Amino acid sequence: MADLIPFHDRDGFIWMDGALVPWRNANVHILTHGLHYASSVFEGERAYDGEIFKLTEHSERLIASARILDFTIPYTVAEIDQACRDVVAANKLSDCYVRPVAWRGSEQMGVSAQNSKIHLAVAAWDWGSYFPMEQRLKGIRITNAVYRRPDPACAPSRAKAAGLYMICTLEKHRAERMGYSDALMLDWKGRVAECTGANIFFVKDGVIHTPTADCFLNGITRRTVIELAKKRGIQVIERDIMPDELASFSECFITGTAAEVTPVSEIGEHKYKPAKVTETLLNDYMELVKPKKRVAAE
Ligand code: PMP
Repeated sequence: MADLIPFHDRDGFIWMDGALVPWRNANVHILTHGLHYASSVFEGERAYDGEIFKLTEHSERLIASARILDFTIPYTVAEIDQACRDVVAANKLSDCYVRPVAWRGSEQMGVSAQNSKIHLAVAAWDWGSYFPMEQRLKGIRITNAVYRRPDPACAPSRAKAAGLYMICTLEKHRAERMGYSDALMLDWKGRVAECTGANIFFVKDGVIHTPTADCFLNGITRRTVIELAKKRGIQVIERDIMPDELASFSECFITGTAAEVTPVSEIGEHKYKPAKVTETLLNDYMELVKPKKRVAAE
């Protein structure tokens, strides 16, 4: 895979604490609170033809995630938006992934870090190709996760916080070792929740069913796809979905900035056939993310 160049061994520019710095100089000290205690929040964004999709919503969510972790990012939404655009431009990227991250610095080492500096950085890298439609519509295979999304009383589940990804990495690795692409996580109550980096949707008799996002990330893609479905007159029901219902659905797909709309062919013993609803929403989403200027030029 071309992607195997380590991330620390690349050239380009990363925006860090207010300025673009050479990629290799964008470093932190080993005694960084964010590294030891997961006081870190981040975003995952995607640019299509140089334009970041739903950029402001991502910047707003980053600030909100930090607030949930009890720190304030010292930049406004507009400044973060601009930093993201500057990084895409400075690296001459067109179709790429954008990663803002904010964290507590290295002034204090210990659980308490009231006076640590809050840092913000934005990196971006090429992320162009997605599979051709026929290949995508075959769907990915998902296994069942062991860890569950935590009770909101036990973790700041509405934040896109680094610490919440500990169990996601464990489950993604376990799934990959078994030859699957991802893992379906239940929540603390045993309800179907989401995958390790994407939300999940099901179809039955032309109606979409998706878990209520009450203890996991209510993804920006999730909300976009719900809007797209409603525009098409497809009914969307957000509700509790128990695992014993998985056999009753005909289609399944996952959504996320990286996943976009990815059809699913299998969850454990259950098989799905990506069909009309999945294909329609996949096409509608890919049409929507295209920058307007390119659509107008076509
Ligand atoms: N859930 C998790 C755990 C994620 O990491 C992501 C990706 N950010 C999502 C859902 C989907 O969120 P979004 O559509 O905002 O990318």
